[in-house]
Amino acid sequence: MKSNGRTQIVILGAGFGGVYTAMHLEKLLAHAPDVDITLVNRENFFLFTPMLHEVAASDLDITHIVNPIRKLLHRANFFEGDVEYIDLPNQCVGVSHGYEPHPHELPYDHLVLALGSITNFFNLPGLEEHALTMKSLGDAIHIRNRLIANLEEASSECAVQGRAPLLTVVVAGGGFAGVETIAGINDFLRESVKFYPNLSEELLRIVLIHPGAVILPELGPKLGAYAQKKLAQRGVDIRTNTRVTGVTEHEVTLSDGSTIPSSTVVWTAGTSPNPLLAPLPCAKERGRLVVNEYMEVPEWPGVWALGDCALVPDPKTGMPYPPTAQHALREGKVLARNLTATMRGGQKKPFVFSTLGQLAAIGKRTGVANILGVNFSGFIAWWLWRTIYLSKLPRLEKKLRVMMDWTLDLVFSKDLVQLTTLHAPTVSHVDHGEYSNHM
Ligand SMILES: Cc1cc2nc3c(=O)[nH]c(=O)nc-3n(C[C@H](O)[C@H](O)[C@H](O)COP(=O)(O)OP(=O)(O)OC[C@H]3O[C@@H](n4cnc5c(N)ncnc54)[C@H](O)[C@@H]3O)c2cc1C
Repeated sequence: MKSNGRTQIVILGAGFGGVYTAMHLEKLLAHAPDVDITLVNRENFFLFTPMLHEVAASDLDITHIVNPIRKLLHRANFFEGDVEYIDLPNQCVGVSHGYEPHPHELPYDHLVLALGSITNFFNLPGLEEHALTMKSLGDAIHIRNRLIANLEEASSECAVQGRAPLLTVVVAGGGFAGVETIAGINDFLRESVKFYPNLSEELLRIVLIHPGAVILPELGPKLGAYAQKKLAQRGVDIRTNTRVTGVTEHEVTLSDGSTIPSSTVVWTAGTSPNPLLAPLPCAKERGRLVVNEYMEVPEWPGVWALGDCALVPDPKTGMPYPPTAQHALREGKVLARNLTATMRGGQKKPFVFSTLGQLAAIGKRTGVANILGVNFSGFIAWWLWRTIYLSKLPRLEKKLRVMMDWTLDLVFSKDLVQLTTLHAPTVSHVDHGEYSNHM
């Protein structure tokens, strides 16, 4: 009971794990006025990552796949800020926020860690400095902007000699994020290049680098080979059994010694758990917090963890569950129940879930999917991808907005507007004439 005799539940991170925990706690504790629930997140929205590549490829408007957290929660408090530290012995967390960042300390009785993962560049030369990433909404907007800026730059007469790096995109990583991203980028660039009279499709070079023998290894070799064939038919150059070993501003070096001139490298080939967890005095495996089947951190009563930052054991196999959204959101529901049971003296339940399926959209209304062990490919898999993920996107308003974008996409070509952050010139930048408010 941290303040006014009220129980404080603090949830760190508003991704799939944190938001679904908060939403279920709200329901379970609807009639518990003695409990405060506080959700802390860096951004004031919840990002629906499965559709992120559609923002990068200009298929969807940038705000249609995010939901304001304040519209998702009705009873819980929301704190927009950066988590700076987690102090388990003193049961508090440090958070900073504001135009002039300043600290706050939030005490807790129960702490839920749902801080997700970050991109891992494996210390490869130049990667962190020059590569783009694909994890946040900002990342997708950045990629979209870069693609459009490169088309504009390459189309000018004076860029003729330097066109190759501008018109070459390299995506590293043949997992879900990498394949969906390159498929979207390929469609976007091939469609958009028609609006640039000085450019043509033949000048585009879209390369996927994958360290394994077949892309999309999670879906098995058959679907991986299908995806590879389809992407290759559409002009994607797929380099398997190859790694990126270094990146400069205008060039990518590969493990076979070759180089590719490119000023746009998207890195999707590695993640690691949130670094805030590293100093915590509890068991970790490869940086992920080891929790029990109830998602409790065993050494610290009242501390819970889920999602990409936790290692939740599957009681059927003893192996950890994979770090996916479909697991994180279901873990949130069970965690909320177990946390409530702990407070109210009820029975906790282990988290038990079998992966329902995995799907990837690979562009041009085709996809690959494995659902309940059955393989699907082509249009049907793409249709399943859209139907299933649309049903999972929170809130009717956003579902309708995405449906409208997809419908309009059947008639109109992709948007080419560059989202610059430039302001209109102000008086201090005008070098002639004097400011006057007379009309
Ligand atoms: C491009 C992409 C596509 C994907 N597609 C799929 C898919 O199709 N299907 C699927 O099942 N999974 C997919 N995933 C994986 C899925 O997104 C993750 O498994 C899921 O988001 C994990 O949920 P989480 O709550 O653990 O972490 P996250 O959703 O990453 O949430 C962590 C939250 O913590 C916040 N945070 C982190 N550090 C701080 C800090 N210091 N201060 C404040 N806030 C902080 C972050 O801003 C974020 O909101 C995809 C991932 C990506 C990147």
